[in-house]
Amino acid sequence: MKSMVEKEKKIPVSGAYDVVVVGGGIAGVAAAAAASRNGAKTCLIEKEYGLGGLATLGNVIIYLPLCDGMGNQVIKGLGEELLKLSIKDGYDEIPDCWKKRNGDKKERSEKRYRVDFNPMSYMLELEEFICKNGVKLYYDTRLCSVIKDQGLIKGLIVENKGGRSVIACGAVVDASGDADVCFHAGEKTVSLNTNVRAGWFYYFDGKKVQLKPFTKWYNADGSFRSESGRAFSGTDADDVTDFVLETRKMLKKELISLKKENPKIDPLFMTSIPAMRMTRRLRGKIELEESHDKHYFDDCVGMTGDWRKNGPVFYIPLRALAAVKTGNLITAGRCISAKGEGWDTMRVIPTCAVTGEAAGAASAMLCSARKKSFAELDIPRLQDLLKSQNVLIDRKFAIS
Ligand SMILES: Cc1cc2nc3c(=O)[nH]c(=O)nc-3n(C[C@H](O)[C@H](O)[C@H](O)COP(=O)(O)OP(=O)(O)OC[C@H]3O[C@@H](n4cnc5c(N)ncnc54)[C@H](O)[C@@H]3O)c2cc1C
Repeated sequence: MKSMVEKEKKIPVSGAYDVVVVGGGIAGVAAAAAASRNGAKTCLIEKEYGLGGLATLGNVIIYLPLCDGMGNQVIKGLGEELLKLSIKDGYDEIPDCWKKRNGDKKERSEKRYRVDFNPMSYMLELEEFICKNGVKLYYDTRLCSVIKDQGLIKGLIVENKGGRSVIACGAVVDASGDADVCFHAGEKTVSLNTNVRAGWFYYFDGKKVQLKPFTKWYNADGSFRSESGRAFSGTDADDVTDFVLETRKMLKKELISLKKENPKIDPLFMTSIPAMRMTRRLRGKIELEESHDKHYFDDCVGMTGDWRKNGPVFYIPLRALAAVKTGNLITAGRCISAKGEGWDTMRVIPTCAVTGEAAGAASAMLCSARKKSFAELDIPRLQDLLKSQNVLIDRKFAIS
């Protein structure tokens, strides 16, 4: 690829924060709230104009389970708080057996603890939530690069209507979904070229509003079998643009065929961001995988079940979140270090909230303890802090 030289220039510093969270999806919202609640001066930067990421702007409206499918709750803390917030408007209800304090275990094993929500109501609630939690929010602001010195990110170069500026930082949470900060910081990342066209959309059928969870078959382990001969990685402009154009072509075809059956059908609300499942992620010191089911890690900072089947319980280690070459960088959400089927398990909404909360609390602790690297954190202290905030870290499910 040819290159050109950009003339060296001074960039104004537009803000200085203890913790900067990049990306306002569920992981970023949880991370920013946790960092702020733990005393860090925190900002959240988001390139779009709403919070929730795929969950709201992508119309992905199922808050998947907080339980293991065997009747045990494995996610509390912000994972549960954000589930409750998603149905604050009364769109859905928590299943009865999960509402009661000590609900019947048999019923709980038959009915998983999950809800559906309305994406627009949820986006409004998340916005209020983040402001109430004392987080400075920057919309229309995209992370473009980092200023790194001696293994630490000193500032994030961002662009918005005001031009290009630097936000100075003590710690950074990469909740971009695509590991953008890791990529710019020179971390080892892994891309997955397996995204299939997808875009859940709402339409009016002449009587009521319906949701069409419109997607193609995908394979989480990377052995992609394309229905169209094309898969997408989501990590360059051509690929993202093609994904959006191809998805819209597919939607248009679908709408034409729906209209043939019912001429009163009108599309209402399509996704406003590309609905890609797994794009780019950190390769950390540990890559969580399916075989880690019920394996306890000493640096566990949260737990999750498996949305796809009953039984598995995963202990999430801090090492699967923390960057390797950049002391003050940590990931949250669908770009943490997890591979294969493990990545598919970790990328869903409740688990993104768990890793977000852990990353935010760890970042606040890094700044207050004046440490240079997440590897230097006092793990038992971090675990006690998370537990005091209702995060579940319970060894009783561990078999190794
Ligand atoms: C088709 C589909 C169906 C799904 N179904 C479900 C489901 O039913 N239930 C479920 O729980 N999960 C589901 N998922 C998965 C889940 O929705 C996402 O993986 C999860 O919401 C990801 O959250 P996140 O915060 O990690 O990332 P995202 O939601 O991707 O948020 C990242 C945010 O960062 C912003 N951003 C990105 N780059 C930058 C940058 N450089 N600068 C500034 N901002 C940036 C983005 O605009 C976005 O708002 C589905 C996903 C897809 C694609």
